[in-house]
Amino acid sequence: MPIFISTRESDDQLRKKVREISGQNFQQCYQCGTCSGSCPMIEHINVFPRRIMALLQLGNRKALEESNTPWVCASCHTCMVRCPRGIDITKVMEALRLIKLRQNIDRIELKKLEPEQIADMPQIAMVSGFRKMTS
Ligand code: SF4
Ligand code: SF4
Repeated sequence: MPIFISTRESDDQLRKKVREISGQNFQQCYQCGTCSGSCPMIEHINVFPRRIMALLQLGNRKALEESNTPWVCASCHTCMVRCPRGIDITKVMEALRLIKLRQNIDRIELKKLEPEQIADMPQIAMVSGFRKMTS
């Protein structure tokens, strides 16, 4: 996905909010890429974790909102364990999700699921999915 960078779009409010919710200083990220290289969901996300950190440093709300990465993130903590800067990237992903959910914006809608999908899906996946993706 192409990303256009402009300092005019820098959103300091977003940076502050993510720092407040996650407790993480993502400004310490030096773009080594270890998190991206470790992520088991890399084939399914459209912005690599390293890039998420760069977008946050730039305060690029638009690109972050267009990314599916915080929603696809499996919260496996691998990136956090391997980050040489000690950044808990999992918490940053959670903060990005919460910022959306707190606006009462759901990522998935129960009504839109097909009955076959509901019948096939493991109940634990349903419960965890709704906890993660609905406000
Ligand atoms: S592993 Fe840590 S320092 Fe390296 S790119 Fe990811 S967040 Fe940044
Ligand atoms: S916590 Fe999320 S971003 Fe980090 S390695 Fe796991 S799936 Fe990837």
